Amino acid sequence: MRRIHDIEEWRHYTDEQRRGGRNIGLVTTMGALHEGHASLFEAAKKNGDLVVATIFVNPRQFGDARDLDRYPRTPELDAKIAEEHGVDCLVEPSLEQMWPQYPGPTLTTVSVRGLGDVLEGEGRPGHFDGVASVVAKLFALNGPSRAYFGEKDFQQVVVIRQMVRDLALPVEVVALPIVRDHDGLALSSRNVLLSEDARRRALGLSRALRDVQSSPRRASEMRTRMRSVMEEAGVEVSYADVVDPFTLQACADEERGPRRAMVAGVVGGVRLIDNAPVEIVSRGR
Ligand code: AMP
Repeated sequence: MRRIHDIEEWRHYTDEQRRGGRNIGLVTTMGALHEGHASLFEAAKKNGDLVVATIFVNPRQFGDARDLDRYPRTPELDAKIAEEHGVDCLVEPSLEQMWPQYPGPTLTTVSVRGLGDVLEGEGRPGHFDGVASVVAKLFALNGPSRAYFGEKDFQQVVVIRQMVRDLALPVEVVALPIVRDHDGLALSSRNVLLSEDARRRALGLSRALRDVQSSPRRASEMRTRMRSVMEEAGVEVSYADVVDPFTLQACADEERGPRRAMVAGVVGGVRLIDNAPVEIVSRGR
């Protein structure tokens, strides 16, 4: 596995590979790799792509300095995991190259209005501007490619798809299902920050989703139900919503059909998110 730290070397490498006939599969990450990330590497490999993974803990998407400071960083273990799961090239750009003006503001920001300021965006203002801006830059450096994202960050997928459409970026976005632990907890780099007790309480998120998946209800009933399952488990609820999977707008009780249940909450000082597809019915039971 090749390791690159310089962004111009990266650009040169992918250009050359494309000239040699390879399609590039890009997986952007913040490191502390786990089976969720590995599933994206493997999907890219299965599609026959040359697999390029990036690790960059992007400070512009963290509102909270403490959250950024304690974000887990395990570069050498990451390199091992990446190689084991078929990554051909691991790119670890420096902060100086990605955001030369940091901590000053960049002059150019990509902002996806409407999609980036609801749900996660509401509680974390500026978060999706940071995400969209860094992903746009990573896409520019990597060049034409397929980019693999996890539905774990469902809102992120919706935001990135919109950005790609609006800016006509030469990238095909592929979204893949959430990888979970044996007990249902969605894998996340932040899970290592959970104490034993907090991890037990964190199961409230996936339990709430399973609960509303198993029996069709009206949207308003789903919201109430998810909130109470999470609260019972000891999760400090940030939101529990049922939304249109394309517009992310909260859906009304009269609507029916496939929608997305989205939950977020804090346990033991760690913020977690999860989501699942749900079917709403216009009449509750
Ligand atoms: P992150 O390193 O958390 O920024 O995640 C990098 C990519 O891995 C994103 O596309 C995430 O959605 C994806 N990812 C993270 N956790 C999971 C998971 N449990 N299942 C599937 N994809 C995941």
